[in-house]
Amino acid sequence: MAANEGDDATVSLVDVLEEDEELENEASAVLGGSDSEKCSYPEGYVKRQALYACNSCTPKGGEPAGICLACSYKCHEGHELFELYTKRNFRCDCGNSKFGDMECKLFAEKDKLNTENKYSHNFFGLYCTCDRPYPDPEDQIPDEMIQCIICEDWLHGRHLGCAVPESVELQEMVCESCMNKAPFLWIYAAHLAVPPTTKESPCKAEDGVKIEEENKEDEKDRGEEASTSPVDEKVKVNGTIGCKRRHQEMEEGSPAGSVECRLRELKALGKRRAEVGAVFWPSAWRAKLCLCNGCKKLYAEAGVAFLPDEADTVLAYENKGKITEQAGGTGGRDPLMSALDNLNRVQQLEIIHEYNDMKTELKDYLQRFAEEGKVVTPEDIRHFFEQQQTRKRRRANAGQYYCS
Ligand SMILES: [Zn+2]
Ligand SMILES: [Zn+2]
Ligand SMILES: [Zn+2]
Ligand SMILES: [Zn+2]
Ligand SMILES: [Zn+2]
Ligand SMILES: [Zn+2]
Repeated sequence: MAANEGDDATVSLVDVLEEDEELENEASAVLGGSDSEKCSYPEGYVKRQALYACNSCTPKGGEPAGICLACSYKCHEGHELFELYTKRNFRCDCGNSKFGDMECKLFAEKDKLNTENKYSHNFFGLYCTCDRPYPDPEDQIPDEMIQCIICEDWLHGRHLGCAVPESVELQEMVCESCMNKAPFLWIYAAHLAVPPTTKESPCKAEDGVKIEEENKEDEKDRGEEASTSPVDEKVKVNGTIGCKRRHQEMEEGSPAGSVECRLRELKALGKRRAEVGAVFWPSAWRAKLCLCNGCKKLYAEAGVAFLPDEADTVLAYENKGKITEQAGGTGGRDPLMSALDNLNRVQQLEIIHEYNDMKTELKDYLQRFAEEGKVVTPEDIRHFFEQQQTRKRRRANAGQYYCS
């Protein structure tokens, strides 16, 4: 890799090492407001928190259970954990009746069960409509896992029944099954969401077929969002996303002060879209959901009362954990951070969770560049992360899947 002076895409070793601090900020964004010291149980059903399931304590075949971040460190050290990213309205199960004799070291005085917790196959390390582990040793097709914001399951991009937009990070996805459980969302989808991009049935996307091309025509519709990178937002907004979003909505000319039912208005316009496949929503779409009493009842009946609440979003959660990111200074995105951004969320989480182990290895890796007097490029960093992933997958294969 030729290291050329003045090239934006190259970065010196010193620059990379200085990123340490920023990487830690990134970790705090993904782990959000989750406390790594105290069990979250006393806080009750936490609006959103990083969550784990322990395959050593509560394996498949038994009762599913979820544990908080602090318990994953303190009570399940060395156990085989599934990282579930974040889930809403969950209360830590660590050491309750689902764990037999095992006691929580941080908060032992728990009720036997948390009756309001919702569980899924994710708690046994299985994901998507295809019910597979991640990473999947039997699946060689590179694909991205995307979390449905309603059921919070993770789905393969190719199992969504629609083309995946390029700027997925900026968008919330609702899977087809959840769309059908809250069918009024189809009306909103016809007006607000990214239109389905395939001309024929979007369900026909075959495994492994590249569908990126089909998204190109969408580009111009998203121009506005593209100008607001998530990082700018995190820096500038600093916990007041709500205001920004309301402002944005005003610009788009929504009927402010209207007491009519927004849903009824949209229905009257008669615009429809094919009611198949997952739906990708642009940022701020939740602020456009009607809040009349009739609609609130609809949300409650469909089990999606959290939808109009901006604080429910993963973005809001990440901002909570994103403490002080110094404003200005560096001018533009750093290539290392961009490389990290380009990995999907599960990969990001895996990387960040093992960050401390990795830090030493990363420094050793970078040291070689220093010794050879080479400049580190974003490709080098990406290569390092990929090596880490492969190594991890191999470990997982050796352990979990040896018998199959
Ligand atoms: Zn806990
Ligand atoms: Zn355990
Ligand atoms: Zn515990
Ligand atoms: Zn799948
Ligand atoms: Zn869903
Ligand atoms: Zn309404």
